[in-house]
Amino acid sequence: MFDSLTERLNKTLKDLRGQGRLTEDNIRDTLREVRMALLEADVALPVVKDFIEHVRSRALGEEVSTSLTPGQALIKIVREELVRLMGDDGEGLNLNTRPPAVILMAGLQGSGKTTSTGKLARWLQEREKKSVMVVSTDIYRPAAIDQLETVAEKAGAAFHPSSSDQDPADIAAGALQAARTGHKDVLIIDTAGRLHVDEGMMDEVRRLHEVAEPVETLFVVDSMTGQDAANTARAFADALPLTGVVLTKTDGDARGGAALSVRHTTGRPIKFLGTGEKDDALEPFHPDRIAQRILGMGDMLSLIEEAENKVDQQKAEKVARKLKKGKGFDLADFREQLQQMQSMGGVNSLMDKLPGAGQLPDHVKGQVDDSQFRRMEAIINSMTPGERQRPDIIKGSRKRRIAAGSGTQVQDVNRLLKQFQQMQKMMKKMKGGGMQKLMKQMQG
Ligand code: GDP
Repeated sequence: MFDSLTERLNKTLKDLRGQGRLTEDNIRDTLREVRMALLEADVALPVVKDFIEHVRSRALGEEVSTSLTPGQALIKIVREELVRLMGDDGEGLNLNTRPPAVILMAGLQGSGKTTSTGKLARWLQEREKKSVMVVSTDIYRPAAIDQLETVAEKAGAAFHPSSSDQDPADIAAGALQAARTGHKDVLIIDTAGRLHVDEGMMDEVRRLHEVAEPVETLFVVDSMTGQDAANTARAFADALPLTGVVLTKTDGDARGGAALSVRHTTGRPIKFLGTGEKDDALEPFHPDRIAQRILGMGDMLSLIEEAENKVDQQKAEKVARKLKKGKGFDLADFREQLQQMQSMGGVNSLMDKLPGAGQLPDHVKGQVDDSQFRRMEAIINSMTPGERQRPDIIKGSRKRRIAAGSGTQVQDVNRLLKQFQQMQKMMKKMKGGGMQKLMKQMQG
């Protein structure tokens, strides 16, 4: 997300970083560029205007002119205003109520409601240690009910059955009762969506709201619809007391306009981002971290949290010890690294959060994609344990066998072995304080 915005803002702000003095002229030019960048990212016009106004008045005020490094000061203002735009604090879910805390999911068809219901169920169960029940009130699409059942099963959540001959409000009341008797902490209600905002849908979801009395009413919206996302959100916010927004499909959205417009347009905070099709591709929304990401400063905090939650600590420590010693790191360890990277959402999701990665030239970014890593993993899978431990024994006939077994070519096996050798060499260098030397080399 935000690739092009990050790129443009960086270009614009880079020139300012080193400047000793800001004048009304160069502030004006910079702000014009920032404005263009935001509009190109599909941020809604009133939002852009408001944003630029805030930045301008602060920039022209004493804050910047008296600062020692005005360029940095302006960047700081842009960063703070981005945070303000998205809603100062990450608000999280408010589940402080007598259980079951009800979460109502509303939104258009195809926005990702059912998927997000499953993701949220899993997140609440795994991260927040809540017991969760889910129910679908989408009586128009029996397939949606089945879909939710599958999703719930995978998430380890309880599923309350429903069928197309029932009334949505009755289903909700029944589920509430079942969640109470089953001592569930949370009940998530998935609702029917339509292709467009229409009265029938709004009436129905309002009725559900009355019956279920949710503590959280989340509007699920597809970020790829850009500014439209913010407008649909407003229509729902007018009809329903929304408490927050789940912005989905941010993995496919290079512009990020919706993320920047929703709060301003609806007055409601984004609470979660959907970042992929898999059922763990959900991230709590933290405006401060997102602002850092937009400005190419990375998001190390989210990266560290993900590492803590998704990486097997014991395995990681084992590898770290080997790395320190500079020996013993074999292809089995290498494979583990590849797998852990994938469990953290793959290389693109990592790149999103690494400081400065956004500024890498496109041809470098284009070189890394997850399919390469999956291929490498397949190659290592086709080796015997002995080969993984001592890759130097892999010669002609073994290479052909490994290539055939992994559905790759001998060149691919060669490439992997070479990469592994390079890695080993690098590790030897890092041993004994070589890390700093290496960093210097990379910067130099
Ligand atoms: P619903 O009609 O609102 O319940 O939408 P679904 O949950 O069925 O989702 C519609 C489509 O969007 C499905 O193909 C999902 O896999 C996909 N989808 C949902 N959330 C995300 C996301 O965050 N990223 C991506 N890439 N796809 C998503």
